[in-house]
Amino acid sequence: MNIHEYQSKQLLRDYGVAVSMGHVAFTPEEAVEAAKKLSTDVYVVKAQIHAGGRGKAGGVKIAKSLDEVKGYAEELLGKVLVTPQTGPEGKEVQRLLVEEGSNIEKEYYISLIVDRATDSVVLMGSEEGGMDIEEVAEATPEKIFKEVIDPVVGLTGFQARRMAFNMNIPTHLVNKAAKFMLGLYDVFIDKDASIVEINPLVVTKEDEVMALDAKFNFDENGLFRHKDIQELRDLTEEDEKEIEASKYDLSYISLDGNIGCMVNGAGLAMATMDTINYYGGSPANFLDVGGGATAEKVTEAFKIILSDENVKGIFVNIFGGIMKCDVIAEGVIAAVKEVQLQVPLVVRLEGTNVDRGKQLLNESGLAITPADTMADGAQKIVELVG
Ligand code: GDP
Ligand code: MN
Repeated sequence: MNIHEYQSKQLLRDYGVAVSMGHVAFTPEEAVEAAKKLSTDVYVVKAQIHAGGRGKAGGVKIAKSLDEVKGYAEELLGKVLVTPQTGPEGKEVQRLLVEEGSNIEKEYYISLIVDRATDSVVLMGSEEGGMDIEEVAEATPEKIFKEVIDPVVGLTGFQARRMAFNMNIPTHLVNKAAKFMLGLYDVFIDKDASIVEINPLVVTKEDEVMALDAKFNFDENGLFRHKDIQELRDLTEEDEKEIEASKYDLSYISLDGNIGCMVNGAGLAMATMDTINYYGGSPANFLDVGGGATAEKVTEAFKIILSDENVKGIFVNIFGGIMKCDVIAEGVIAAVKEVQLQVPLVVRLEGTNVDRGKQLLNESGLAITPADTMADGAQKIVELVG
C-alpha cells in the first residue's frame, strides 16, 4: 500500500526525521490558509498523487506570494498529471501539499528496500539525487552505495556515517545525515514498510539535511497491526477493479493486455500469463481465484475481468485439487449467463471431477471452447482474440 507525500512526511516528523514544514490542502482557499501558517515568503505547492516524476510534469510549483499559491492551487487541483509513473491515462490531483521553500545546496538520494539477494533490508544512497535512480544505476552504477543491514543489530551508526561519506555529504554534516538515516530505519522497521525512498534528500544553504520528497510502500501482510497506517489509505488512487476484487478475496492485478485470465493458484496464474505471452498474446490481468472458490466468487471474478474494456477474450485455466472442476464449471456457466458474455471464452479444466465438469460445460449449450492442456488453451484464446 502506498501513501501520499504529505502523509509520509508526517510519519517521518513523528520519528524526529528532518522534513520541510508543510500542510495538506484540498481547495485553493485551504492552500492559502496552509501557506499563512508557514513562516516563509517562498512556498512550494506540490500535487499529491501516488506517483513520482511530478516535478518534470509540472506538479511542483514555487510560489512567491499568497496570490501565487492560490493561482497554482487553482491550476493543479482537478488537473490530470501524466508522469512516467502514472501511465498514459495520468492521475487527477485532488490534494496539495503547501510547503516552506528550501534553499537547496545539493540534492541526494536515500532509500531502504527489502533486498531478496541478501535476504536483508538494504540502505541505498547516492549523490545523484533528484533524478531517476534507474537512470543513475544505468549510467553511473559506481555512484550508488549499499549497506546491508543485519536484522538483529539493525542499522549501525558506523554504517550510516560510512554511507554519508560515500555519498559525499559535506564532512561537517555527516552526523546530521547519519541521524536522518537511523531515524528513517526506525520508521521503516516499526511500520513494516517494504520501501521508503527519499529523492531528493537535500543539504540546504543553512546546513540542514532533510527530506524534500518521501515515498513509502507498506507490506499489506503487516497492515493488520498498523491501524494508523491503514487510515492513510486513499482508495481514489487505487485501481477500482483491484479494490472490488479485494472485497471478494480475489488476488487481482490489472495489466494492459487484452486476454482476461481466471486461474486458481498464484503459480498457475503466472504460468498461464507466460504461456499466453509465449503464443503471442498479452494478458489483461493476473487473477488468482484461490483454493476454495465458490460459484459466486467465480461470477464476481468474471464481472471484474469484463469491467476492463480492453478484454477481448477470457481464458479460464483451473486445476481442481481442493477445488472441484464441476463446481468451477457451474460457476462459469452461471457467470456466462449472468453477464451475457460477448467475448470468446476458452476453458481448460483438470483434476478432481474433471469429466463431470466438462460434461456440464458441453451440455450448457453456451459458446465455450474447451481446451485439453494449458498450451492448447493459450493457443486457442490467442487465435480467437486475433
Ligand atoms: P517528484 O518529481 O514527484 O519526485 O517530486 P519531488 O518532490 O522530488 O520534487 C521534484 C523537484 O522539485 C525536486 O527534485 C526539487 O528540485 C524541486 N523542489 C521540490 N521542493 C522544493 C523546494 O522546496 N524548493 C526548491 N527550490 N525546489 C524544490
Ligand atoms: Mn522525488
